[in-house]
Amino acid sequence: MNKIRYCQNCKEYTLEEKCPRCKEPTIFRIPPRYSPKIKIAEYRRKMRKEILKKEGLL
Ligand SMILES: [Zn+2]
Repeated sequence: MNKIRYCQNCKEYTLEEKCPRCKEPTIFRIPPRYSPKIKIAEYRRKMRKEILKKEGLL
């Protein structure tokens, strides 16, 4: 599992230590009670996309 971080400012999950949007430091956080599997799939897709984006930039 990747380290998942969360921006309290934008209310978004990210892999960055600083929010790509607002540059605020993000906190380590696991999504709370993400019961519906659709949500999890959606979230994982987003994470994967973010990783790909990051790798593409490097
Ligand atoms: Zn933010």
